[in-house]
Amino acid sequence: MYRCPHCGGLLDVAHDTDALRDRSAAAWMRLFDERYRVTTWPYGSGVWGKREWVMPGVDDDTVVSMYEGGTNLFWAERYGQGLGLRDCWVKLCGNSHSGSFKDLGMTVLVSVVRQAIREGLKVKAIACASTGDTSAALAAYGAAAGLPVVVLLPRGKISTAQLVQPLAHGALVLGLDTDFDGCMKIVQRLAEEGTVYLANSMNPLRIEGQKTVAVEIVQQLDWQVPDWIVLPSGNLGNAYALYSGLELMRELGVIDRYPRLAIAQAENANPLYRAVSQGRREVEPIVAQATVATAIQIGDPVSAPRAFRALDELNGVVEQASEQELCDAAARADRTGMYTCPHTAVGLAVLEKLVARGTIQPSDRVVCVSTASGLKFTEFKVGYHEGSVPGVDASGRNPPVMLPADYGQVVDAIQARFA
Ligand SMILES: *Cc1c(COP(=O)(O)O)cnc(C)c1O
Repeated sequence: MYRCPHCGGLLDVAHDTDALRDRSAAAWMRLFDERYRVTTWPYGSGVWGKREWVMPGVDDDTVVSMYEGGTNLFWAERYGQGLGLRDCWVKLCGNSHSGSFKDLGMTVLVSVVRQAIREGLKVKAIACASTGDTSAALAAYGAAAGLPVVVLLPRGKISTAQLVQPLAHGALVLGLDTDFDGCMKIVQRLAEEGTVYLANSMNPLRIEGQKTVAVEIVQQLDWQVPDWIVLPSGNLGNAYALYSGLELMRELGVIDRYPRLAIAQAENANPLYRAVSQGRREVEPIVAQATVATAIQIGDPVSAPRAFRALDELNGVVEQASEQELCDAAARADRTGMYTCPHTAVGLAVLEKLVARGTIQPSDRVVCVSTASGLKFTEFKVGYHEGSVPGVDASGRNPPVMLPADYGQVVDAIQARFA
């Protein structure tokens, strides 16, 4: 069951917070610090190290984990300086098993499915619609558990690396002549008719794992709350997951205030931005236009109602970034040692705009969530440095200098660059 039978709304996992209050806030923090990245199964995982807050009922030998989470909170010192920010951080969620934050939710979902199968549930296959990263994560975790996986992908709208990942893991890969929203409609119907078990983030099990990113950010800042969290978003499940983690921490006294949330959308796929800037409480589905930020090219976000709640509670804002703005931000960040995926670049471009506008102050502590590894998006990087991204002036491009194997010409090239 994925929706409320009465109102059709999405379901939430409810935790017994009274029972969780048996442990004090200080004791929770100590416990999570003790478990952080240990080798004792399964606690070294950023998700299962917090299992009591996530999914307490799964047995150790049923957990399907690849030590997801525990990713670097990168101090973006030089990048932040460029914006006039002293306290700027990037949470590198892409430094994970399959290269994106989707691992955080998938470990929970696949573990619960494995437990249910052991208890007698019949599942032909676990399935998802994907813009590339959900399918990569599902295929990896499914393969680790020995469970069959089907992925529905919009043909030609994901990176080569993302397409190869589920192929390598043996999933049934269906490339459909549509966009993500079209794939989503078909997979929802497959799930409703009982053909497959649904692994998209409308399934609240994913949210439970993904919410640990909020806990981990606060933990890595020595249990201090940042002033802002910037999050590139598409289907909007992760925005709600972030809020959900913050809410639980606040209920249990681990934090006593919330950060503000900035949801970052690509201008070419901006249904939430449109709704909020027109003062609407509902997202009107659009056909998302092409963007290099392919993982958030979504026009009809399933978790939109959840995102409004996150925005209300976290005094949030929604901002958008054009293709030019996101490419510029990626180039700037990469020049300071990051290797940004285009979605992270949407987050950084939005951060830059909010700083320029004074919404984010120079003294604010800001965390931008990096959702995937730049290494999955080689086409984007090559396109930028070749100057071939449509409609984008690649002023920061750095093409290779091709030379014969001639000592003098090599010296000349060095002199020309660093004279
Ligand atoms: C899935 C994904 C997003 C968007 O997350 P939503 O929960 O759909 O809003 C952003 N960036 C990357 C790289 C993703 O894979």
